[in-house]
Amino acid sequence: MREPAGEPETLRGRADVPGRDVVDSSLVLDWLRRVSTAMHQHQHHLIDLDSAIGDGDHGANMARGFAAVRVTLDAPSRAPTSPGAALAAAGSTLVSVVGGASGPLYGGAFRTWGAALGTAPEVGALRFAAGLTAALATMQRLGAAVPGDKTMIDACSPAVSAFRATAESGGDFASAARAAARAAETGMLATIPLQARKGRAAYLGLRSIGHQDPGATSACYVFRALAEAAGAPVTPSP
Ligand code: ADP
Ligand code: MG
Repeated sequence: MREPAGEPETLRGRADVPGRDVVDSSLVLDWLRRVSTAMHQHQHHLIDLDSAIGDGDHGANMARGFAAVRVTLDAPSRAPTSPGAALAAAGSTLVSVVGGASGPLYGGAFRTWGAALGTAPEVGALRFAAGLTAALATMQRLGAAVPGDKTMIDACSPAVSAFRATAESGGDFASAARAAARAAETGMLATIPLQARKGRAAYLGLRSIGHQDPGATSACYVFRALAEAAGAPVTPSP
């Protein structure tokens, strides 16, 4: 058990279970590299979605931001030694590189997540879930959006709930990540019939109905990549 001592029982990882229930910095690096690849591959889809109900820059924002995260984390002199350090560095990079609404929201969330995980070299699924919950709270505090507003929160909120519920019922990290990815996808698709109440899309009023939210889509890629890195990939809906 390498979790810091003195934490509430519910926040402790289950490092007694070897392997995939423990998150280390190499898993986080693998995950964020996968996110970078996904944002690059799906850049034009995100641009199309944001062109329909925003200003068309979300694909470029995400591709540029996560490419910069990759450069930051792959620099040998700055190799993070803990999941928390990796997430915090990713968050700071996103804040400095990505403008618009999504940079501060993703960046702030990753920074909070990193701070919540601290400097432990390995964390269990429950502790990871606690960090994820704190990250979502930051995203909602910064953006003042709630589920149903047609934003990235519509993918992130159910994903965080699913991750936490799976971890709290004894599921390992891979199961929790798979549940989160599935919930994010469901949440992403559920934005289509919604009318936007936050962000640029809200200016369109009723005309935002019928379009998938770009931020919920990029959030789905983030959780899909987490499931892949955990060894539990999900099959996307057609
Ligand atoms: P911008 O809207 O400034 O051009 P992006 O295009 O990069 O920034 O990001 C757009 C996405 O940001 C939206 O699809 C939505 O998911 C998300 N978003 C916008 N405003 C908010 C908010 N207040 N809270 C949460 N997410 C938001
Ligand atoms: Mg935009």
